[in-house]
Amino acid sequence: MADRTGQAGQAAQAERVEQARRTPVDRVALDEAVRFTSDLIRIDTTNRGGGEGVERPAAEYVGERLAEAGLEPLLLEKAPGRTNVVARIAGTDPSAPALLVHGHLDVVPADPAEWSVDPFSGEIRDGVVWGRGAVDMKDSDAMVLAVVRAWARAGARPRRDVVLAFTADEEDTAQYGSGHLVAAHPDLFEGCTESLGESGAFTFHPGDGRRLYPVAAGERGTAWLTLTARGRAGHGSKISHANAVTRLSSAVTRVGEHAWPVRLTPTVRAALTELAALYGLPLPDLDAEDPGELAAGVDGLLERLGPAAALIAPTVRNSANPTMLNAGYKINVIPGSATAQVDGRVLPGSEAEFTATLDRLTGDDVDWEYAHHEIPLQAPVASPAFDVLREALLHFDPAAHVVPYCMSGGTDAKQFSRLGITHYGYMPLRLPEGFDYQAMFHGVDERVPVDALHFGTHVLDRALRAL
Ligand SMILES: [Zn+2]
Repeated sequence: MADRTGQAGQAAQAERVEQARRTPVDRVALDEAVRFTSDLIRIDTTNRGGGEGVERPAAEYVGERLAEAGLEPLLLEKAPGRTNVVARIAGTDPSAPALLVHGHLDVVPADPAEWSVDPFSGEIRDGVVWGRGAVDMKDSDAMVLAVVRAWARAGARPRRDVVLAFTADEEDTAQYGSGHLVAAHPDLFEGCTESLGESGAFTFHPGDGRRLYPVAAGERGTAWLTLTARGRAGHGSKISHANAVTRLSSAVTRVGEHAWPVRLTPTVRAALTELAALYGLPLPDLDAEDPGELAAGVDGLLERLGPAAALIAPTVRNSANPTMLNAGYKINVIPGSATAQVDGRVLPGSEAEFTATLDRLTGDDVDWEYAHHEIPLQAPVASPAFDVLREALLHFDPAAHVVPYCMSGGTDAKQFSRLGITHYGYMPLRLPEGFDYQAMFHGVDERVPVDALHFGTHVLDRALRAL
């Protein structure tokens, strides 16, 4: 910190840490974080995709809670019912850049037949809040609301302007949500340089007693592809050297079996370095020029890291998994074309390599195009912001090991990045051992412990006021 920001920066940082110590988070705030989570779960905001979903009642609920805290929330829609909420809290330092905090209001579908409780009951049982959205991410929306309301009660203000965005349609294409806000209302995000949102700062238990807290500082890009093979249509009994099904099958096999080279982004490099040190393991040469040596070193380290490697393993390489095939209509007719879908995920800095590799793997007889394309993101790990995020977690869990990580999927941050906003995945939750957080996402019996919400509210308050 000191060598990056100098003496003055260090003093200012110490002052902010001191201020953060006088926490405005009181019993009311902790109770509200729980109650708001439960209330928001009860408002069914299921996003079925293709434009089907209604966030308005949840947006109105959020707007009312913000207005009660003296804020002036704007409700914004691209289509009726697909409502977003944006509000700005004035910081104490008008010269400081603004900070964006965003959370989505929609949830993925839940089939009540599969659940132990009604997924839209928001039931609180044995210290746990149950329901769709309990971790993805009405819990986060509720904690943000609880924190800013605590600020209003205590007369506390953050240093930077804090812009709050509660979005629609994150679970589909974001066209009614963050995509719309960025396209139609960029002025609302004036001055924002950094954002906090899903998903990070939760407890990851590698099973050895350690508590890791992955903080997202990057996202892989989404590259959903359609492969189309063309050939000569004809009778199934004839010899064919231009069979679209055969051509497609060959291309799909090459794509699916491709051994993608290890490509280390700054975030993944930092994560490997920190985890190796934490576990007392030798760090392989991460600058090895020979691809085989690099892969052997990185894969070897991941193997020795055991369960902790799960945080990193999906993000040391690009990936492209064939997921759907479509060809033909009758067994004795050779079709003139055949198509396949491939779920590709691309690391920051690897897009050109990804497209060149796809060109080569699909070959001359098969074309490919994007069915859906979202850019990858990269945020700096050696930054004052990351230091603050780390400190806030350590303050409330001194045994925490904060590890930067790159998300293998994507969030609303991709849309907001179009405004030049750098994103960190940071919605803190302290979770007990045995609680499979990742399985909760879009899973059955999604739930969140009350204690986790209390912890998250404290950490979020501290981080937001110190940033
Ligand atoms: Zn989510």
